[in-house]
Amino acid sequence: MQIQNTLKMNIPPCISKVLSVLYSSGFEGYLVGGCVRDAMMGKTPHDFDLTTNATPDEMLEIFSGYRIIETGLKHGTVTVVSSGENVEITTYRIDGEYLDNRRPSEVSFTRNLCEDLSRRDFTVNALAYSPRDGLVDVFGGVSDLEHKVIKCVGEADKRFNEDGLRIMRALRFSSVLDFDIDASTAKSIHANKHLLTNISAERIYTEFKKLVCGIRAPELICSYADVFGEVFPQVAQNTNAFCANAQKMDKIKPVYINRIASLLYGFGKADVRGFMHCLKPDTYSIDTVSALCTLASQPLGSDKISVRYMMSKHSDEFIMALADIKNIYSPDFECKKFLNSYNAQKIQNPCVTLKQLSITGSDLIDAGVERGPRVGELMNDALCAVIEDRCINTKEAVLEYIKSQL
Ligand code: ATP
Ligand code: MG
Repeated sequence: MQIQNTLKMNIPPCISKVLSVLYSSGFEGYLVGGCVRDAMMGKTPHDFDLTTNATPDEMLEIFSGYRIIETGLKHGTVTVVSSGENVEITTYRIDGEYLDNRRPSEVSFTRNLCEDLSRRDFTVNALAYSPRDGLVDVFGGVSDLEHKVIKCVGEADKRFNEDGLRIMRALRFSSVLDFDIDASTAKSIHANKHLLTNISAERIYTEFKKLVCGIRAPELICSYADVFGEVFPQVAQNTNAFCANAQKMDKIKPVYINRIASLLYGFGKADVRGFMHCLKPDTYSIDTVSALCTLASQPLGSDKISVRYMMSKHSDEFIMALADIKNIYSPDFECKKFLNSYNAQKIQNPCVTLKQLSITGSDLIDAGVERGPRVGELMNDALCAVIEDRCINTKEAVLEYIKSQL
């Protein structure tokens, strides 16, 4: 990886404008965290976090000519609308004591950038850059970037005890950035894994989704199976099966639903649902993972009628995920054959849903069918006949077919 020694970040105009207001008013202003890390690695940052020695009140004053959203004032965050974009600026902060392994009991502001950097989780996330004053690296973040290492700022045990989520974040960054975890940080993760039980499922899920899509997911999930076992009892009880599945994850498209489903392949329905419930995701994610796991262990026909039935029930993403998972787990599944047949059907765009059927329920009533559940049944029969090529999808043919069924 090429680390940019003389960082010259490509800063969007809305951010530059905010920085110049801070500078011309006598304050400091730095880009900090992920955006600096990513720029140093030659990647384009996806968002920009700004930090300053100006207090929230001072920011309100110097940005009085701008539209301001005051949502995070208590935590030092002011959102300035600059060139139509929302730009968040946070006052340098020191976190107070952590009483619950989750969040500080209070935050206070400081005028000292280094103090703000010292509360950040990992050295590679504790870099700050100002186009006026250059790069600030007080914890060896640049060297750790060069050596591709995730390392806590300060003493790992203390940092994980302050906020247990950092354990998941370390694993997530290692997976996504393809970095090693520094030996003392790694040791501390294993030793403090119980702290994850204090962390909300939603926060863990946010990190876990990114982790499973990362380059190092297979390796990390196996090396830290004991840590994941704290979050998921299903992992603690079936570590070998879980690790065997993890080893195959890199062959699955990096979409979290697909990756999680592949990780749970072969587990019973109750275990799959139980695992997902530990993350408290939306019901769509639970149902999709669950359906993928169930169908992945059943035959998946490549003939056009089986493919059409698949299309009638599932989305394109679902079918592709299913083929992906079956491809690594079912030795007799002919993935290429299935995909060729599926792609041919997509081009044909056959009628596979009631919506696409050339008649509606009202047509049936007009044709003399009594209102009620029978209408739905006949519509479904007709759809099956069309899917199976027993009837063409024209109004006359479908009505004719239905009459033959009465
Ligand atoms: P991403 O590319 O995922 O956005 P990021 O480094 O920007 O990566 P964020 O979660 O957006 O990660 O957090 C922004 C910055 O805030 C981090 O780089 C880090 O400096 C700091 N940070 C975030 N969460 C924590 C935490 N739990 N403990 C300490 N510092 C944190
Ligand atoms: Mg970020």
